[in-house]
Amino acid sequence: MRVVLLGPPGAGKGTQAKRLEASRGIRQLSTGDLLRSAVDEGTALGRKAASYMDAGRLVPDEVMLGLIRDVLPTGAYRDGFLLDGFPRTVEQARGLDRLLDEAGAGLDAVLSLEIPDGELIRRLGNRRSCEACGEPYNLESRPPQADGVCDRCGGRLVQRDDDRPETVQRRLEVYHEQTEPVKAYYADRGLLTSVDGGRSVDAVGGDLERALRHPGE
Ligand code: AMP
Repeated sequence: MRVVLLGPPGAGKGTQAKRLEASRGIRQLSTGDLLRSAVDEGTALGRKAASYMDAGRLVPDEVMLGLIRDVLPTGAYRDGFLLDGFPRTVEQARGLDRLLDEAGAGLDAVLSLEIPDGELIRRLGNRRSCEACGEPYNLESRPPQADGVCDRCGGRLVQRDDDRPETVQRRLEVYHEQTEPVKAYYADRGLLTSVDGGRSVDAVGGDLERALRHPGE
C-alpha cells in the first residue's frame, strides 16, 4: 500500500509508522530521519537542511521534493511505503502526486493523527530516543527501565535539539500554517481519515489499521 501519515510534531507518527511496518509490512519512509542522517553524515543535503531544522522551520519544498524523487523509486519502496513527515505543504503534496502519476501509482490512504497543542508540548518535552538504534521513548508514558539507557541496545537516550521548548513552539506554528492545509487537499480527493491520536499507542494503532482496511471512510 502507498500511505501518507500526517500529524503535528509529537503526535506519534514515528511510533505508529513503526507499528504499521511491523504489523502490515508497509515500509516507513521518514523524511525527518533521512534529514537527520544527512546532517550527521555532513552531506550536501544535510548542510542545506541543518539551519532550517535547528530553527524549527521547514526545509524548502524543492529540496524535499528532490529528496523524495531520489528515494521513492528505489527498490525498498517499490511495493509500497508509509510516508512519515511528508508532505508538509500543499506544494509538496502536489509534487508527490506528480511523481506518483509518472509512476502510474496513486496513494491508497492518508491518515491524520489529531491531538491538541497542549498535549503535544507535554509529549515533546518528554520525548527521548536512543542515539544508537533510534528506539523512541517517552519519560512519562514509555520510560526506559534504567534512566537514560535504551532497553533494546543499551545506547544512550538523547533529546532531539528541535524538541527544546523554544523550537517546539515554532514547529507547532509551522504545522498549523503550512501543514494543516494538506489535510483539506487530501480530504477533497476522498483519501483522508482522521484519528484521535491522544490515546494509547494500541488504541490509536487499532484505528489506523481499521482505516487501512477501509480507506477514506
Ligand atoms: P520530523 O522528524 O518529521 O519532525 O522532522 C524534523 C525536521 O525536519 C522538521 O522540523 C523540518 O525542519 C524537517 N523536515 C522533515 N520533513 C520535512 C518536510 N516534508 N518538509 C520540510 N521540512 C521537513
